[in-house]
Amino acid sequence: MWHYRLPALRAGAIQLEKEEKTMKSMAQTVLGPVDGDLLGFTLPHEHLVLDGSSIFSEPAAATDRYMAHAPLGWESLSWLRYHPYENLENVRMLDEAEAIGELTLFRNAGGGTLVDVTVRGIGRDPESLARISRKTGVNIVMGTGLYTEASLTAAYRNMSVDEMAAMFVEELRQGVGSSGIRAGIIGEIACNWPAAPTELKAVQAAALAQQETGVSISLHPGRNRQAPFHLVEVLRGAGADLSRVIFCHTDARLRTPEDR
Ligand SMILES: [Zn+2]
Repeated sequence: MWHYRLPALRAGAIQLEKEEKTMKSMAQTVLGPVDGDLLGFTLPHEHLVLDGSSIFSEPAAATDRYMAHAPLGWESLSWLRYHPYENLENVRMLDEAEAIGELTLFRNAGGGTLVDVTVRGIGRDPESLARISRKTGVNIVMGTGLYTEASLTAAYRNMSVDEMAAMFVEELRQGVGSSGIRAGIIGEIACNWPAAPTELKAVQAAALAQQETGVSISLHPGRNRQAPFHLVEVLRGAGADLSRVIFCHTDARLRTPEDR
């Protein structure tokens, strides 16, 4: 009987191949799936609204202290370049109307899609991203993941790799909480150097969630030349598909100030 079953099995395999191909050629946006051919010009790593209060730190030096709460402007710009996390307003983008205004400029200049890799720890806001996408007509792909250990509460730090992976998979397949808004990329998973224990768990969990869903990973390595290479090995060890991994901010990791 096997020769009768063989064509059926082959047909099944072909069908599966087709489905996989269809899934891989679609992008999951906050307003639903979009054909990859329709994404247009795409920004792969942005933050539209974000609250980085968790990574804000008061300046240590007495003469810098007043800058922590100074308004953003030309006068503070050069100081901010060297102390980006020591001014509260510089680590927060809470103005949805401003994000809509800026994204409208992007659309009017020919932009089609933006990947917002804001994750848990820095105030990811699925409902806001959906509103921004509706108002601007720009496709927005949202991330699932965890920011640096310092940005996370104990509840996240205490999660196991499997629990983190399950959370990522749920957000990719069902959506975030009860919003029904689904993530379309894993990341940015953010690490320091050396990577903290929670950060290493999140990287391994990203690999597991990728194996289950086939979704790409966006990684933010710590500020050290070795950091991206270390994370490649962590991902490889956890079974990630390295052809679907994006390393962000590598300009500030692989090049030192001297050879920029
Ligand atoms: Zn980022």
